[in-house]
Amino acid sequence: MSMSEGIQNRPYWWDGSGLPDAGLSLDPQTLPETVETLIIGAGYSGLSAALTLARAGRDVTVIDGDMIGYGCSSRNGGQIGPSFHKLGVAGLTAAFGQAKATAILRESMESLTYLKTLISDEGIDCDIQPESGRFKGISRARHYEETARSNESLAKAVGFAFEMVPKAQQSAHIGSDFYHGGAVYPEDGQLQPAKFVKGLAQKAIAAGAHLYAPARATGVTRDGDRFAVGIGDRTVSAGQVLVATNGYSGPELPFFHRRIMPLRSAIIATEQLAPDLIRSAFPDGKCIVDSSRLVLYYRPSPDGTRVVFGGRSFDNADRPDHYVPDLRRLMLRIFPQLAEARITHGWSGTVAYTFDYAPHLGSHDGVHYVMGYCGSGVGRATYFGHKAALKMLGEKGGETALDGLEFPTRAFYNGKPWFLPAVLRWQSFMDRFGV
Ligand SMILES: Cc1cc2nc3c(=O)[nH]c(=O)nc-3n(C[C@H](O)[C@H](O)[C@H](O)COP(=O)(O)OP(=O)(O)OC[C@H]3O[C@@H](n4cnc5c(N)ncnc54)[C@H](O)[C@@H]3O)c2cc1C
Repeated sequence: MSMSEGIQNRPYWWDGSGLPDAGLSLDPQTLPETVETLIIGAGYSGLSAALTLARAGRDVTVIDGDMIGYGCSSRNGGQIGPSFHKLGVAGLTAAFGQAKATAILRESMESLTYLKTLISDEGIDCDIQPESGRFKGISRARHYEETARSNESLAKAVGFAFEMVPKAQQSAHIGSDFYHGGAVYPEDGQLQPAKFVKGLAQKAIAAGAHLYAPARATGVTRDGDRFAVGIGDRTVSAGQVLVATNGYSGPELPFFHRRIMPLRSAIIATEQLAPDLIRSAFPDGKCIVDSSRLVLYYRPSPDGTRVVFGGRSFDNADRPDHYVPDLRRLMLRIFPQLAEARITHGWSGTVAYTFDYAPHLGSHDGVHYVMGYCGSGVGRATYFGHKAALKMLGEKGGETALDGLEFPTRAFYNGKPWFLPAVLRWQSFMDRFGV
């Protein structure tokens, strides 16, 4: 029997959320010929923008090529934190100067606060544990000092809270000897991603937004001061368009296709396990990420019965027969005590990398856009979606620290990151070598 046989190839999160049939969308055949504001992509970015626009009195239409929330937003690990730019304080300062670097870092912190406040003010039911904290496991000994230095610089620059945990004390946070110590981020937390995307969609609908799915945009062209948007076999005229397609941006929107590198990340979930076994792995219920290049991330399910374990995958296609056994093997290296745990779900999604590791929002030829969270976007997609909406409204408050950043591409890059698989395989090899 192959390892992925009998395993459901769909997000475990959908089970607890009512997705994919959550009754959120209208029949695309009933799409009007003319709309005021059209949002392409119904994940956190698009739905957060829809909520802000609808509350401001705009007539908002949201379409998704698949179901509402089909992309990363119902598939992710549900870990929430500030998602700092990969360059860190020194790299950002060298690239942009101190003032802009600090503003970019501060905004990452603000995005987390925005997310937590939105969920709490709106009463969105998504099993949020806003301050359960996160433990970052150090995969190779030399990463410990690097992580400590980088955390210290973030603490100094923007007051980021952290605590370094030497190996001798890591058993308070993880039931494994696998790591060389770690760091605790007490203000990070976790939520149930599919419940969050569904809750956000419900809020947008309640505010007056109309959601249509499955309705795929096939192209956007200017038509005077309006836009002609192909949707399936129809054309809809829109006054304003926001593209929020992130790692699912296809060739039908070439400007974005050329600027986004879709990278696959995959997750497995175990069957329900005894509470003692879960506690043996996650003694204080923190979610966990590590410093390996595979970027492993894992946590207990919100009801404390399953292990949800994710990491980067090296296939362009969704290949559970590859990533399920790989992830299980990695999970058992960290938690040998889970050897008997059956895997019930395995799924993947494509995250959106940009060439400068920064998210991007703004407009191109009059078409607004927001995307590019580089694998870490629960908070930032929600926050920057809101910011993109304020920009479309022309209201104060739409400014962000990312304004003015060029949205870079590379010569000959056409949306297929041909150079990535080899690089990633090499990184994976190095990681294994280091383990
Ligand atoms: C496996 C995995 C684990 C992750 N773990 C974490 C985590 O723990 N913490 C964290 O912060 N982030 C995590 N992320 C990243 C996070 O989920 C994303 O950054 C975030 O959900 C992005 O939201 P979005 O709305 O921009 O994009 P998405 O949710 O991907 O939505 C884009 C939507 O656009 C639609 N679309 C594309 N093209 C068209 C078209 N032409 N017409 C109509 N619709 C179209 C797609 O169907 C899709 O639904 C993870 C991602 C994955 C895949």
